[in-house]
Amino acid sequence: MTNTNSGTPTLVGIPFDGQSSYLRGAAEAPAKIREALKCDASNSWTELGVDLGAPGAYEDEGDLALSEKEAFGAIESGVGALIGQGKRPVSLGGDHSITYPIVKAFAKHYPELTIFHFDAHPDLYDEFEGNRLSHACPFARIMEAGLAKRLVQVGIRTATAHQRQQAQRFAVEVVEMNGLPAYEKLKANGPVYITFDIDVLDPAFAPGISHREPGGMTVREAIAHLHAIQGNVVGADVVEYNPVQDVAGMTAIVAAKVLKEILGKMITG
Ligand code: MN
Ligand code: MN
Repeated sequence: MTNTNSGTPTLVGIPFDGQSSYLRGAAEAPAKIREALKCDASNSWTELGVDLGAPGAYEDEGDLALSEKEAFGAIESGVGALIGQGKRPVSLGGDHSITYPIVKAFAKHYPELTIFHFDAHPDLYDEFEGNRLSHACPFARIMEAGLAKRLVQVGIRTATAHQRQQAQRFAVEVVEMNGLPAYEKLKANGPVYITFDIDVLDPAFAPGISHREPGGMTVREAIAHLHAIQGNVVGADVVEYNPVQDVAGMTAIVAAKVLKEILGKMITG
């Protein structure tokens, strides 16, 4: 495979769960994912043969400083600054609402963005409980603002009639859980952004989430889909890990594993 990628993958923590509709806790995730990533229980090699422990393999900018009221502006400018420095930001959420300001920043630099979205939920509500910025709405905001050329969703298993209408309205390419595998849908020309909601995984593998939805992907299925991605991955996020809901820290390890394989994919192309 040709490596058209450039720019150092750069972690940035976004400790924000102020748009969660059901449970708070995802703001505590970035620190826990970092801890699991560096845990001596495993080594620093990804399955694609990349040593993340090699000097300069990736960078870590630490967490963004956020106030709850002005979080979205700070997220957009913080992520935008990293893109402006030629880096490839990999954001650690936080709830899924953060993907809207993140993608706003990406769209300024990459007008032809393709988004590969892993999630149990479409997150396409026009509004949720009167809130248009809820973590149930980011992809409605992204698509109505024309911030992405393509939105491909995989692993969906909670689509309502309203969200099916929204998917049609925005020409979202949806592969529901019962339609997997979807490797052929994960090919793109041009810049790719990966947004990975941990609840795409079956709660048996990843119970530390706010909305447990049975019938999801195995960790192996998720990794196989991440490895199948073709395109120039310019950034990513891993969101919705909720440490408050976790069992013995196992979801932190799963989130760190997903993060490792995303970083490895970004580096190998
Ligand atoms: Mn989501
Ligand atoms: Mn979800």
